Amino acid sequence: MAYDVIVVGSGPGGYPAAIRASQLGFKVAIIEKESLGGICLNWGCIPTKALLKSAEVMQYAQHSTNYGINVSGAEHDFGAVIKRSRGVADKMSKGVQFLMKKNKIDVIMGFGKLLSKGKVEVTAADGKKQVVEGKYIILATGARARNLPNLPIDGKKIIGYREAMSLPTQPKSMIVVGSGAIGSEFAYFYNTLGTKITLVEFLPKIVPVEDDDVSKELEKQFKKQGITVMTSSEVVSVDTKGNGVVAKVKTPTGEVTLEADILLSAVGIVANIEGIGLEENGIKTEKGKIVADKTQQTTLAGVYTIGDCAPGQALAHVATKEGILAAESIAYLEKKFAHQPEPIDYGNVPGCTYCDPQVASIGLTEKQAKDAGYELKIGKFPFIASGKASAAGATDGFVKVIFDAKYGEFLGAHMIGYNVTELIAEVSVARKLETTWHEILGAIHPHPTMSEAVKEATAAAYGEAIDI
Ligand SMILES: Cc1cc2nc3c(=O)[nH]c(=O)nc-3n(C[C@H](O)[C@H](O)[C@H](O)COP(=O)(O)OP(=O)(O)OC[C@H]3O[C@@H](n4cnc5c(N)ncnc54)[C@H](O)[C@@H]3O)c2cc1C
Repeated sequence: MAYDVIVVGSGPGGYPAAIRASQLGFKVAIIEKESLGGICLNWGCIPTKALLKSAEVMQYAQHSTNYGINVSGAEHDFGAVIKRSRGVADKMSKGVQFLMKKNKIDVIMGFGKLLSKGKVEVTAADGKKQVVEGKYIILATGARARNLPNLPIDGKKIIGYREAMSLPTQPKSMIVVGSGAIGSEFAYFYNTLGTKITLVEFLPKIVPVEDDDVSKELEKQFKKQGITVMTSSEVVSVDTKGNGVVAKVKTPTGEVTLEADILLSAVGIVANIEGIGLEENGIKTEKGKIVADKTQQTTLAGVYTIGDCAPGQALAHVATKEGILAAESIAYLEKKFAHQPEPIDYGNVPGCTYCDPQVASIGLTEKQAKDAGYELKIGKFPFIASGKASAAGATDGFVKVIFDAKYGEFLGAHMIGYNVTELIAEVSVARKLETTWHEILGAIHPHPTMSEAVKEATAAAYGEAIDI
């Protein structure tokens, strides 16, 4: 065999898997059909955060007098905003190229298809084929935007996330369908730059996976910013024949017609599992994803799967963790790793949305905890009572923590406000260490920081809050 491990796909699942495998002493190749770094670095996490930073700077400029600073004539250059974001993505992709070289991983550009156990056929852009052999194969082919029949993405009038972050000109108005992380981030971005946004959500609340209190607060803040929010509403048809789009939307009070320059479909993703040799090799899929066991191995021994094409939350940090787990599981089989690596705890995965206010959460929502039969101790700390938030001029939002009343187990945390996507890591570590409320209160949090809100919310749950 030419290689010990072949990784198909170089996103935040694939490239860390390749690096970890190389660190563990394997000879590794990675196959990529498009750009190193996958969706995350090229069309997902990173370019969107670059766009959101531009929106944040614009917001600061617009509200600069609140801080005693006069900024006159603040204007944005949409082309320059897009160009900056694309530049950041390019730089990150080149960074992965450097990492592959540093870790002596062979990069093979082309479409990878599993021929049989240990064999991957790679078709290059010019159609040339080669077969690469390796003892273990990790499928990390990721996902793409979901295309609903009512909202067929044409890339011009009905767009997906790729077009939304690379439009040549800024639309004056946009309908955003779907209020998950992607829809909410784009709604905030475009609204801040002056596009008239209508956010349409099928479910009764926006950011539907979040705690009800967080969804309510985000809706309130979005409306304050001028975004029109329609929940329990479904786009039933879109007419793209005229200059813009005309969408018919079924709402709880009847059908309405919305007109806009463009419609962004942000209704989820589908895994890239077609044409990669799954059926031919009897590899099982379920609900559109490749079935994996607790070591990330598929139903065919020696073939592993990680990231968005595998079960588990479709998040970059989940993909990375799964990639490392797959590499270490292979190393354990090959006696290059001392113990069977620990399986992933999918109940302790933080989720973040980077609009303003930011949203971050981990563990059970209040409803999930109640439904699971726990008796609860819940504490909430509003940022209006935080010295740091007041100094930063960012007093909207709160931290809400949920503990099990019987043993003090930290069941979940739900945050909305300035910088909360940085605060959630504390709860992730705390829950990993099986920390109770007692240790959170016992740990000294620096003052003044937003992180004090985690401690104060915990104190509030037990009647010991100082600042509220
Ligand atoms: C707009 C947007 C914003 C996002 N923001 C965040 C965020 O802030 N935080 C977060 O955690 N997640 C975010 N995500 C999700 C995140 O991008 C994904 O969860 C993550 O990229 C999944 O990693 P992956 O390695 O499984 O797949 P991908 O990143 O999709 O990479 C798969 C790679 O495989 C390649 N490939 C596919 N098939 C083949 C083949 N047959 N042969 C060779 N190569 C192939 C693809 O070209 C791609 O490069 C965002 C997603 C989007 C769309």
